Amino acid sequence: MAGKKSSTTTPKADKNTEKAGTFDKAAAAEQVRRITPILRKTYPNATIALHFANPLELLIATILSAQCTDVRVNLVTKDLFKKYASASDWANADPKQIEEDIRTCGFYHNKAVSIQGAARKIVDDFGGKVPGTMEELLTLPGVGRKTANVVLGNAFGVPAIACDTHVIRLSRRLQLSENSDPVKLESDLADIVPKRDWTLFSHLLIFHGRRICAARKPHCPECPIAQYCPAANRPDLW
Ligand code: SF4
Repeated sequence: MAGKKSSTTTPKADKNTEKAGTFDKAAAAEQVRRITPILRKTYPNATIALHFANPLELLIATILSAQCTDVRVNLVTKDLFKKYASASDWANADPKQIEEDIRTCGFYHNKAVSIQGAARKIVDDFGGKVPGTMEELLTLPGVGRKTANVVLGNAFGVPAIACDTHVIRLSRRLQLSENSDPVKLESDLADIVPKRDWTLFSHLLIFHGRRICAARKPHCPECPIAQYCPAANRPDLW
């Protein structure tokens, strides 16, 4: 039902919900059913912002994107992917040179270690090709569930929910889950979002988080799903 918020059809926005164990998963699923078509219409081009041509490039770009803007990563990878075209190029490179080449993405030492560690594992254990399962991706140094889900969902076409900061924040405000822990949240969202929509749903929340539902000051008056949002115009729930 469109219109006013309803305590019977939307999950309670009470922070005590988690403690009380009264979280209504059916209502959260209904919430997904109502907001998804609106977000699809609002963001018809919602997709990943990182530029890549193959799973290896997306893996590297995702590692570089930690604490860095996608725009910056795309600027850096434009030349980087010409210089390092294969996993063995990364595996055999001088670590100091990698650091220099990715310096402007920040945290360049740790990122270089992760990239080269992952590349070496890909060469040694996977014949130079990025593996296409969660289990295998998680064996790569520096690759956690979020990165693995980004790669699975966008480079392999496997339905995957990547719980980044926007997905976590919006899921809390929209009361899609009682959990902020990314692993638990991913599991909760997997229960209430149709599997075919997993990857798209992540993109829709990320687009909405970037454009309207900002971390510090969400633009609730302009929000197309405000009528369904328990946190609309409620700073205490942001
Ligand atoms: S109504 Fe406000 S808090 Fe809720 S999703 Fe929209 S912008 Fe975010």
